[in-house]
Amino acid sequence: MPIKTVTRYVAECDVCGTAYGSDSAFERAIHFTTREDAVDLVHDDPEWLVTTDGRVICLLDDDAHQAALDALMPPAPAAVCDGQTALDF
Ligand SMILES: [Zn+2]
Repeated sequence: MPIKTVTRYVAECDVCGTAYGSDSAFERAIHFTTREDAVDLVHDDPEWLVTTDGRVICLLDDDAHQAALDALMPPAPAAVCDGQTALDF
């Protein structure tokens, strides 16, 4: 039996490095045969996020993950009201 090189894909959180499917010490990362298969499965998991630029983020509830999610949000729009005079700072 020959020893062969096999390429597989593993989705890892861009913030903490957790591999998809290895959330506990007793589980192993899920290996995918294609990048598209990895993106499809992780995209369908509500506890993970795949961004439009290809980043993968698990939705662990801590400051680092919240900061990563906040960075994805567009800047807040400036409040503009009719007849309002802008203040110079
Ligand atoms: Zn994470």
